[in-house]
Amino acid sequence: MNLQGLPVFDVMIIGAGVIGAAITRELSKYRLQVAIFEKNLQVAQETSAGNSGVIHGGFDPSPGTLAAKLNLLGRHIYENEWFNQLDFPRQKVDSLVLAFNDLETQEIERLYNQGITNGLKKNELQILSRDQCLNLEPNVNPQISAALLCTGSHIVDPVCLTKTLVESAVSNGAQVFLGNKIESITKDPELFIVKTTTSHSQSATYGSRFIINAAGHYADVIARMIDDRDFSLRARRGQYRVIEKTERGIINDHILFLAPTIHGKGVIVAPMLDGHLLVGPTAEDGIAKEETRLITLEQFERIGVIGRKIIPNLRMERTCNVFSGSRPICVETNAFWIAPSSKDQRFIHVAGISSPGLSAAPAIAREAVSLLQAQTELVLKS
Ligand SMILES: Cc1cc2nc3c(=O)[nH]c(=O)nc-3n(C[C@H](O)[C@H](O)[C@H](O)COP(=O)(O)OP(=O)(O)OC[C@H]3O[C@@H](n4cnc5c(N)ncnc54)[C@H](O)[C@@H]3O)c2cc1C
Repeated sequence: MNLQGLPVFDVMIIGAGVIGAAITRELSKYRLQVAIFEKNLQVAQETSAGNSGVIHGGFDPSPGTLAAKLNLLGRHIYENEWFNQLDFPRQKVDSLVLAFNDLETQEIERLYNQGITNGLKKNELQILSRDQCLNLEPNVNPQISAALLCTGSHIVDPVCLTKTLVESAVSNGAQVFLGNKIESITKDPELFIVKTTTSHSQSATYGSRFIINAAGHYADVIARMIDDRDFSLRARRGQYRVIEKTERGIINDHILFLAPTIHGKGVIVAPMLDGHLLVGPTAEDGIAKEETRLITLEQFERIGVIGRKIIPNLRMERTCNVFSGSRPICVETNAFWIAPSSKDQRFIHVAGISSPGLSAAPAIAREAVSLLQAQTELVLKS
């Protein structure tokens, strides 16, 4: 192949969701030619736009897992670095996990212990009695039996965050190619040769020494382009209803979770940064890649039931918006798949980034950089 005149990068990042954006920013600190490619015309239009926007305290992931490590580390990087260095909407908001019976009370005790094992400080977690919880949130369902308070959580606007990360990377010299879909990847001894099509059907070819695959639901499709079948992905969709600002006062500043055992993980009523209330998400398996952001009438009703379970007087009929997103779940491990490809070490997968991927994003970016560092010398820009 004639490579003359081919634009060549040191590292190409595929996918401008929050994960690809975080990695690009981290890599832009080094003396590297870095470029991020995104098939949509804007960043963060897929899973990074369809989530709860919670930076989780870190008590939920199972101890010893990569998710547990990266959730806590990620949260600390937000608190100690990103919140100071980057300008994006955010708010510190404590969370309450509500228990409605003995089984769920046992579950929140388990979550408390798990949080401590994961490294949360004792003053970040507290089991509250029914009355203590109702003092904090008087409109919560009075049938609760107990609650777990976590003071280590925040809400952010994940779309603004992703844009801010990309802007920061660009100001450090990274290049951004929006509306550029990766169509095929072949290998030359030194380079990956990548063909793209633009949103107006023009094709282009680029070379890159390394590739980081952060393509969300399509990370397995990208992997197949170099004949890598190490992992595959399935999608679990979550739908939300956004409740009008008039209802915001029904809760104080807490993210209200249902206990995970009976109702599925992560179901919330929560304040939004723009003054609305967020209710959801559902958990629907077997979702096609093309339907990861679909809204259905059946789930719309179900979210109403969830909302009223948490806040009985919540006027769900005052819904003013709906949205959805899907978790990309690694079929083989049900865990983050962050590893070089078995077909070529220079091709690094950052795949299967389901929840708490947003919370873990800063730490995931560092993990990806350290995998690159294991293969090539990285020199920080002065
Ligand atoms: C319902 C729900 C609630 C959640 N709540 C939380 C939460 O509160 N807290 C938390 O920590 N985490 C949460 N998560 C998880 C979090 O949203 C994800 O971990 C995170 O957004 C994943 O980001 P990503 O960049 O990997 O994927 P994406 O945002 O999907 O980005 C991948 C990008 O790759 C692009 N792409 C794909 N194929 C190609 C191609 N061929 N060429 C070019 N570009 C391509 C896509 O267009 C997309 O922009 C939630 C997830 C869901 C679904």
